[in-house]
Amino acid sequence: MEDEEAIAELEKDYLELSGFEVAIERDGDSALERGLSEKFDMFILDVMLPGVDGFELCRRFRDKSNVPILLVSARKEDIDKIRGLGLGADDYITKPFSPSELVARVKAHLGRYERLIGAMPPKDDIIIIQNLRIDRETHRVWVNGNERTLTSKEYELLIFLVMNPNQVFSKEELFRKLWDEDIIGDIATVPVHIKKVREKIEVDPARPQFIETVWGVGYRFRV
Ligand code: CA
Repeated sequence: MEDEEAIAELEKDYLELSGFEVAIERDGDSALERGLSEKFDMFILDVMLPGVDGFELCRRFRDKSNVPILLVSARKEDIDKIRGLGLGADDYITKPFSPSELVARVKAHLGRYERLIGAMPPKDDIIIIQNLRIDRETHRVWVNGNERTLTSKEYELLIFLVMNPNQVFSKEELFRKLWDEDIIGDIATVPVHIKKVREKIEVDPARPQFIETVWGVGYRFRV
């Protein structure tokens, strides 16, 4: 996402030379729409954009996705803001920058991200995350080798979060995805189930290591 055409084209040329596919958006509103509706492996966000700015794009994309985000800024002062806001960006780079430095950083971040994803193969029946083990075929769950009995709804909630690691889901989203078809129940059931799952899978449910509360936003499964 970059509104200065010369810079956008330069970034695109260098990234394509390194074998990446690149899509350019030049204003914040279309960038937001496209970034949320299509699948990308990484976002490179210029901070100053017409419409929605790069900071806001970063916040919105991070809510939905755990792919690497690199912020590009023309102003040195923005760095303090990037650090201070804790927007979930993985890195930042200030203009002017050398295109080869950009490519090197893109490669580093994508490499790390792919190793992270590769550590948790989504197609395997057995999922092991630290001391947690889940058998997706039999729906059985173990913590430190001890089996935990989850209700089917608790299991559905757990597996949904596990399969979408690091993404934040609001109570409303979880309710829509997991309960909407049910005849009974309302949104208050979501935190109740989160609490029950934590009691079963967390070593210390008061200080959860897996299912984290993101205050004012929702929940995410941390890996
Ligand atoms: Ca700009």
